Amino acid sequence: MSFVLPSKLAAPAATWERDVDVVVLGSGASGLAAALTMRPERSVLVVTKDMLAAGSTAWAQGGLAAVLDPTDSIEDHVRDTLAAGAGLCDEDAVRTLAREAPNAIRRLIELGAMFDPDESGDMALTMEGGHSHRRIVHAGGDQSGAEVQRTLDAAALGAGVEILEHTFALDLVLGHDAVGRRRAAGVRVARLDEHGTITSVGVISARAVILATGGYGQVFASTSNPPAVTGDGLALAVRAGLPARDVEFVQFHPSVLWIGPDARGQQALVSEAVRGEGAILYDGLGRRVMEGVHPLEDLAPRDVVAAAISRRMAEAPGGIGDHVFLDATHLGAEFYERFPSITDSCRAAGIDPAVDRIPVAPAAHYVCGGVPADLDGVTELPGLYAIGEVACTGVHGANRLASNSVTEGVVAGMRVGEALVAELPSAVDLPDDAGAAVDAALRNPAQRVELRSVMSSQVGVLRSPDGLAGAVRQLEALAATASVGVTGSRAAWEATNMLTVAAAVASSALARTESRGCHRRDDHPEPRAAWRTHLQVRLTLDGALALTGIPHV
Ligand SMILES: Cc1cc2nc3c(=O)[nH]c(=O)nc-3n(C[C@H](O)[C@H](O)[C@H](O)COP(=O)(O)OP(=O)(O)OC[C@H]3O[C@@H](n4cnc5c(N)ncnc54)[C@H](O)[C@@H]3O)c2cc1C
Repeated sequence: MSFVLPSKLAAPAATWERDVDVVVLGSGASGLAAALTMRPERSVLVVTKDMLAAGSTAWAQGGLAAVLDPTDSIEDHVRDTLAAGAGLCDEDAVRTLAREAPNAIRRLIELGAMFDPDESGDMALTMEGGHSHRRIVHAGGDQSGAEVQRTLDAAALGAGVEILEHTFALDLVLGHDAVGRRRAAGVRVARLDEHGTITSVGVISARAVILATGGYGQVFASTSNPPAVTGDGLALAVRAGLPARDVEFVQFHPSVLWIGPDARGQQALVSEAVRGEGAILYDGLGRRVMEGVHPLEDLAPRDVVAAAISRRMAEAPGGIGDHVFLDATHLGAEFYERFPSITDSCRAAGIDPAVDRIPVAPAAHYVCGGVPADLDGVTELPGLYAIGEVACTGVHGANRLASNSVTEGVVAGMRVGEALVAELPSAVDLPDDAGAAVDAALRNPAQRVELRSVMSSQVGVLRSPDGLAGAVRQLEALAATASVGVTGSRAAWEATNMLTVAAAVASSALARTESRGCHRRDDHPEPRAAWRTHLQVRLTLDGALALTGIPHV
């Protein structure tokens, strides 16, 4: 068997058209930073499938990494990022990020972001796993992303960015330029009511389409990501013929709040910053988890901590096989002030973090792979740009350094915005059938339960060849299941996109016979020199997936 995946999402014919200079898909940090930067020079329409703040940005706790302390240096930020990326970072992209990160923070402050001050009134900088200096800017204690989202929402609206909420990006509309090259000409979208049912379908033509749709954490049963993060933009790009690169590198956060064996979907994060403030991990017998595992112990890189917890859980110490404990009681009541959101989540679960050890477990958190693009968002398809978590720019390589991603989204958003103010791609006509009804098999939303379960159990923190092969077979069977009577809706489109993404992730993880960064295989526990390679997955004309290795340069 092999996969049979759709090349378009089914939807009725379009009943309306719009024409703008630039359409931005997604309203997180990256999309809004781009949209805002292009005003007033360009007409900009942001299309977002839910409310403005439904993506991951609003949930970011720890903060944004940038070199702001005189004893820190760009070179050190570069070195830490490259070390986390385990041999697959693009050093130029990392250097650009590190160099431009301080400006991005300053720009957010100009726009009204209120980052936390330290006792002397300077910006407070905290430490996180893998960083050699205190360089994480935060807001409201652990509400850093909410502050960035609030700032960008207000600034984008104030700058005259037009926003269509509850509008789902279905597929790119492709055209041809004067010399016959394929290029993005716009996007087919569906407006939704509050239940995710279609109210109308439309076509937006644009000189540039910016993909800023975030990652795909929701493809896993246990994740820190909010419900909107279902990999739609990556699936859309794959259907348009672009590759998905490095998608096997899924970062599992070591610590989401464990609230019981049946918890599913988004779970509250217990930020790395808690360990940055000295909290320690213990197993069910009260033994330290990270002692002797890594020189940085509880502040080791995320993949190391997540793998150590997963291994310890597999031993079921004290009969506990699905969580460990984080002890932050040394902070006492200071915890409430420093981590107000985590305090609320703990209290809702009946835990007082100033007194009790917090039960935690790893969960899918951040995806390093995506649509290949540079830090200006440029992809292989003229007219299509990808920024933020949906993009694979080489900044994160095989593993992301904590707190580099919101910074990356803002930096890339500003860069693509500036580039499109300087020059827009040439206009192309929409093809005659741009708004025609599309008839294609959609997945039944009920299949999401099995899909997520197989992804978490077989394509999670610790991967085995048999488990991965079984996952691919199970996903192929899901793709082959008849989907009688399933019509277009947010839930059906998301389920269809999730299957395309899950298929790409599981196939890539099966092919990569080594352990590197956040990809860990029990049959090959070490990195292999021959695998200093990127994996790219493309959709073939018959709906299968083709994998290619691209040597790292
Ligand atoms: C709990 C949590 C904590 C985190 N903490 C940190 C941290 O401290 N520091 C850090 O750097 N990173 C952190 N991250 C990661 C970081 O938040 C994300 O990588 C980053 O915010 C992604 O920004 P983005 O703009 O790419 O996407 P998002 O913010 O995820 O936005 C994606 C947007 O696309 C929209 N969208 C999706 N599909 C469609 C569609 N089909 N049509 C239209 N719109 C669509 C969504 O609704 C949303 O508006 C955290 C993530 C989580 C979940």
